[in-house]
Amino acid sequence: MIYEIISSTYSSNSYILTGEYTILIDPGLPENIPLKSFLQKKMLTINCIINTHCHYDHIGGNFGEEIYVHENDANAIETGNYKTAYMNFISEFNGFPVKRRLKENDVISAGDHSLKVLHTPGHTSGSICLLDANTNTLFSGDTWFMNGIGRTDLPSGNLNDLEKSLMKLAKIDAKHICPGHGMPFENNIENIIRNFFPEDW
Ligand SMILES: [Zn+2]
Repeated sequence: MIYEIISSTYSSNSYILTGEYTILIDPGLPENIPLKSFLQKKMLTINCIINTHCHYDHIGGNFGEEIYVHENDANAIETGNYKTAYMNFISEFNGFPVKRRLKENDVISAGDHSLKVLHTPGHTSGSICLLDANTNTLFSGDTWFMNGIGRTDLPSGNLNDLEKSLMKLAKIDAKHICPGHGMPFENNIENIIRNFFPEDW
């Protein structure tokens, strides 16, 4: 089962995959009330949290000991440094210990669902998308939105990298896209690349 908890605030969206294990993708901000009430209502215990990248609006609500993130963004989360952009939300941030540093093609299994790690730098150097091949669902973090792409003006952001990442995603067999912000949508990668990088399509 995949649950989508769509945020109406600055907090990122959260996604929960249940099976033998329960995986939470991006808890969002610490005050993510919809997520907290959902977990309570369903009486779900989270076995691991995967962060799509290091930004505070995705990771601020991290909890537990099983926190997974791409190796390029792990240090930022562990030290709580400027790369997390915490300053936009709080005055002080001490970070979270990271249990597993993810790499391209790593697979995290929940039993029913397996998530394959696709390294998609651009928004940050350690941004990832997660592909659930069983359901053709892609969790796209802040790389790809319904009508846009991730901003590249924050630390380690890079527009060339982002374009390459989108070109890579254009080759992936994904139907349903679950972004870090805004509503989920059906694959529209051709339109996105045509709009944002017309010279390269
Ligand atoms: Zn972000």
